[in-house]
Amino acid sequence: MPELPEVETVRTDLKRKLLNKRIKEVEVRLPKIVRPKNFAATLTQNSFVDVTRRGKLIIFHLKKKGFMLVHLKMTGQLVFRDHDQFTVGGHSQKGMGMDLPNKYSHVIFKFEDESQLFFNDLRQFGYLKIVNQTELNKVLAKFGVEPLEPEFTPEKWQKLTENRRTNIKAFLLNQAVVTGIGNIYADEVLFASHVLPTRTVNTLTTREKTAIYKNIRLILQKAIDHRGTTFNDYVDGDGKKGSFIQFLKVFHKNGEPCPDCGAIIQKTRVVGRGTHFCKNCQV
Ligand SMILES: [Zn+2]
Repeated sequence: MPELPEVETVRTDLKRKLLNKRIKEVEVRLPKIVRPKNFAATLTQNSFVDVTRRGKLIIFHLKKKGFMLVHLKMTGQLVFRDHDQFTVGGHSQKGMGMDLPNKYSHVIFKFEDESQLFFNDLRQFGYLKIVNQTELNKVLAKFGVEPLEPEFTPEKWQKLTENRRTNIKAFLLNQAVVTGIGNIYADEVLFASHVLPTRTVNTLTTREKTAIYKNIRLILQKAIDHRGTTFNDYVDGDGKKGSFIQFLKVFHKNGEPCPDCGAIIQKTRVVGRGTHFCKNCQV
């Protein structure tokens, strides 16, 4: 699933490419993925004047009032094509080639200059939704703190973690607490902080909490700097790919030696999610 660094990467890429392009036509091939019913009509002859983000949600600001919210969920992908140049963001597993549209292309935006934006989604959990300002505010109110914004202070983190009886992995994945962290970065943050994912939050020492706080910021920022984590070989139109994969220490490394101590990385399930850790380095 694309997490904060991958969503931030696609946001900045698309912002650079498609602002103020007039939308000529929107083809909705899978109606259940968009809302409301007049989705295509609202966007036709409209344009995007800004692209922002909250957590893993991408917010396209429409020229003629309102916003288009896009959530990529598990396997959503946004691909912008300008002639033979591709800008790809979101899901990156193999099997979703660049011969577009393909059977996973559920929404296609056609711009007046002949460039196109595809929303592809293998498993169809993602969505596109047009909302007004009031509806947007309601949606945003449910999000937790943005981990890379100044509002996420050490004091705020200490406060958030007080008296929490859930395990730290579930806590990090809870979008209403800190927003944008998913399975990859939760595992990496906990490894870097020497804390087991199964630890209950209220058993963490101040020192451990501080380590987690610092690593959230460090690892997410480093991942953004490297355009996120990409699990296949595609290179986008600018010749770039998400290269944070080279810095992963435990995620998808089960069975391999721990880079710090040489013990074997293990995999278990925590809150239903595959969770990777080193039993030796994390307590
Ligand atoms: Zn280790």
